[in-house]
Amino acid sequence: MRGALADGGAIAGERLVTWRRPVHTHSTGRTCSEPGCDTVLSIYNATDRCSVHRTFVTIVPRNPGSASADNT
Ligand SMILES: [Zn+2]
Repeated sequence: MRGALADGGAIAGERLVTWRRPVHTHSTGRTCSEPGCDTVLSIYNATDRCSVHRTFVTIVPRNPGSASADNT
């Protein structure tokens, strides 16, 4: 119990700065870039496509081992 508690106070002061991290938002009123899709994107959506048309990017890799559907 010497001057250790003083250092703790300095750390608490630093938290006052870090709580205010910039929120990455985007312009409002954007719509999905997919032709024919008028879905309005969220300002928090970093992509230019809606959730429906964004899924094809994350294609689940085919599993060569389970080519056979009969697994009973
Ligand atoms: Zn879309």
